[in-house]
Parts: sequence; structure tokens; C-alpha cells
Amino acid sequence: MRKMNTLLLLMLFPVCGCGPHLLDFENGLYLAGGTFIPRPAFDSSLAPYLPEFIEDAAYYGLDVDASRLLVLIRKELPEDQIGLCQLHWSDISTTGAPLYAAIYIDPAVQCEAQLRATLYHEFGHCLLYQEHTRQGIMRDYSYSCEYYERNWDSLVAEQMEIRP
Ligand SMILES: [Zn+2]
Repeated sequence: MRKMNTLLLLMLFPVCGCGPHLLDFENGLYLAGGTFIPRPAFDSSLAPYLPEFIEDAAYYGLDVDASRLLVLIRKELPEDQIGLCQLHWSDISTTGAPLYAAIYIDPAVQCEAQLRATLYHEFGHCLLYQEHTRQGIMRDYSYSCEYYERNWDSLVAEQMEIRP
């Protein structure tokens, strides 16, 4: 219960418009052709999971380049979606590496284990270009908090075996 309250408190910042981690589109960058690149915006409650993911990936021999991940924030998502990875290419070219990636996490995430799993899922899409699988972290439906807690290490091992 205590953990839930902390989470709710953190979620209030974007609403009041006074948090230091708000996206400030005014300070983004427009490229020729109208492509917009936002300035980096990381929610402080989500940011610590990124180095954790990079470290886990490195343990399984995967080199993660997170330099193109510019947005990692909480945002209300449509329907029952709890996470979203958006890869943005330039308007001129849609081949090669994306210009930047953005990850959004819905406030409805239920527990710490599900939050971590949702982030790993979106990191998988945005940083390792992984697609959905029938089971595990890259499955398109979330498991229960208990399931993630009990099986976390093997779930990570399984995810890091996926090659795009
Ligand atoms: Zn997905």
C-alpha cells in the first residue's frame, strides 16, 4: 500500500505542470523537412530501470545503444495498454536506424514487478528491436505481479535470447 501511494504521488507531477521532468516541446529541435526531435525527457521514477536493462543485456552479450532513447515518461495510454514504444524515423528516410525512440508508461501499472517487466518489454522493442513473442516478457499481454516476481531471472534470460 505504501508503495502504491509513492507511485501515485510521482504520477501527479505531470498533471500539476510543475515537475522537472515534463516534456518541453518548445525546446525540441526541428530538422529540415519538419521532423521534430524532442529534448531528452526522463521520468526520474523510470530512468533507473534503463541502466539495469543495459547491464542485464550486457551479461547476455548484447550491446545496447540507448543514445537514441530521448523520451521515457509516464503518460495515460489508450484502452488497456500499459506501455508504448515509438520509433521515429526522419520524414525523409525511413530506413536504417531510427532518429529517436520514445517510451510511454501508463500510470495503471500495478506493482513494481509489472513496471519493471513493462519497461523491459518496451526497451526490448525500442532498443533491441524485438518483436512480440508467444510468451515471456515480449508477450503482448502482461502477466500478474506474482508471476513476474517468481520467474524474473528466467524471463530476462529468455528475453535476451531473442534476436530481431
Ligand atoms: Zn509490445
